[in-house]
Amino acid sequence: MTIEAWRITGQSQIDSYVGRWAELAVLLVNELSVARAHGRPVDPPADRRAALEEALTRQGWTLGRALTGADADRLAGVAAELRPAFTGDVATLNEALVRHAAVPNLHGDPPVLAFHAPGADLVDAWAADAATALAMVIGVGQGRRLRSCEADGCELVFMDVTRNASRRFCGLSCQNRAKASAYRARRRA
Ligand SMILES: [Zn+2]
Repeated sequence: MTIEAWRITGQSQIDSYVGRWAELAVLLVNELSVARAHGRPVDPPADRRAALEEALTRQGWTLGRALTGADADRLAGVAAELRPAFTGDVATLNEALVRHAAVPNLHGDPPVLAFHAPGADLVDAWAADAATALAMVIGVGQGRRLRSCEADGCELVFMDVTRNASRRFCGLSCQNRAKASAYRARRRA
């Protein structure tokens, strides 16, 4: 099979698989493992489970079943395991792949490729699939696209999909804050 044929038959599905699960990793980290965002402390939600379910729904995730409080607590642990991948820490990601039993696997009929073990529960399945997606991004030399916002007082992470991987901030508000403080620093100098 030529590379060109592979591009037509499978590459875009693989890309969208990786993109989808990397986005879930971003969501989990930002919802469950961020103490400061946009220069302000983040108050932990009164109901972590409800807040997470709302964030998932907002991003178009449909859940096979309702999340439990225990799921949400375990996913917060998963978020803490995935966060270091956004600052170049590969060792912690490797540990997460092992801990959540990530393994390439064909599920169902017609068979669908996934990276969680057969019989994995929802949390381990998400952890394995999300960790694998981040590993695939890093493993093809695109790790610099997994970024943490560079603005002061912001720990939000994102996947940089700009053509030349030049995005530095989680969004416009942080970009503007950083620009303003750089301007003030220049004026003081
Ligand atoms: Zn930010």
